[in-house]
Amino acid sequence: MTAVKARPATVSRAKTKVKTAYSQAEIEEIFRRFSIQRPEPKGELEHVNPFTLVVAVALSAQATDAGVNKATRALFAAADTPEKMVALGEETVREYIKTIGLYRNKAKNVIALSEKLIAEYGGEVPRTREELITLPGVGRKTANVVLSMAFGHATMAVDTHIFRIANRLCLAPGKTTDEVEDQLIRIVPDHYLYHAHHWLILHGRYCCKARKPECQRCVIADICKAAEKTNEIPAALVELPAQII
Ligand code: SF4
Repeated sequence: MTAVKARPATVSRAKTKVKTAYSQAEIEEIFRRFSIQRPEPKGELEHVNPFTLVVAVALSAQATDAGVNKATRALFAAADTPEKMVALGEETVREYIKTIGLYRNKAKNVIALSEKLIAEYGGEVPRTREELITLPGVGRKTANVVLSMAFGHATMAVDTHIFRIANRLCLAPGKTTDEVEDQLIRIVPDHYLYHAHHWLILHGRYCCKARKPECQRCVIADICKAAEKTNEIPAALVELPAQII
């Protein structure tokens, strides 16, 4: 049985009021290694334009990206603009996405957000968080993903993986996703911020998994301060090109 280690105390950086168990040098090193491991990280939700990205991210709440992609391939082939989505109608949208959790409500939102885009934004996806979160079914996380993936903004959309990692590693602990987002934005070095969101998601999805983190293949194992960490690897290993999953 793995001994349970005490969770490391977090420290506050007086100037920025940041809580983290890591020094700035350690944080820099964590993201440097992620950047070597995945130089061009990509989101895994399939989309063909900003509108289909908004729809895909809205559909992904409490669903896997793979499950959403399976449903949206056919949906986006039939409707890749707000106008076509409205023409399709709620009932047909429901049929396309019925394999996704909460599909009834999500179909309603897809039609409602399409109507709003047509009525208020000329059929275009707005480019500010304030405008995006006024769309039905679009919360702060969805807006951040859209701003990052569609418009190239450096944002931190905190999903279940990022929330878990931030707290497990005591990297940016917080009780809410907003708190974790705020902490991460403060601690992640500016030059790594654009990709940090995807690095953390992919690390959580494929390595630092919820039930059983795969510490033996983790590129930051020797720096990690998680109580759940099971072993460490020589730092030199991280210089090797690592596989994506
Ligand atoms: S060492 Fe283990 S707990 Fe720490 S980040 Fe890596 S996988 Fe997660």
